[in-house]
Amino acid sequence: MSNVTWSYDEERELTRYLWENYAEFFSPQERHLAQVIAARQVAESRTSSNRTIIPSDYPGTYYSDPAINHTLLPGAYAVQQQAALRVMLQRQSDIRISRCPRCQRILRRVTALQCFWCGLDWHDGRM
Ligand SMILES: [Zn+2]
Repeated sequence: MSNVTWSYDEERELTRYLWENYAEFFSPQERHLAQVIAARQVAESRTSSNRTIIPSDYPGTYYSDPAINHTLLPGAYAVQQQAALRVMLQRQSDIRISRCPRCQRILRRVTALQCFWCGLDWHDGRM
């Protein structure tokens, strides 16, 4: 496990960071879509490939909702990335991107005291 190398994608991390740390800046519609995306990911991860997902098995997936399916046509990540970009532009002065002082990668949380990427830990207040 200790030798696992995670690939870092700045855009992907920024999208995740904004959704996880600034959810309140997204619109109710965007937050609803995010819940649907998460519910679908759970449904798809629990469904074996030789079986069709039955929407009623998984509440909140909205597989039979044409409007939601249309909105998600570009793909879940593209939809979430676009929303994150809008939030980034509109709320720039309210957003703080926390980065690791050593590797400069985006941290998991605004208040993180450890870097998920390089392992640097500053819980003791020292750098
Ligand atoms: Zn780091």
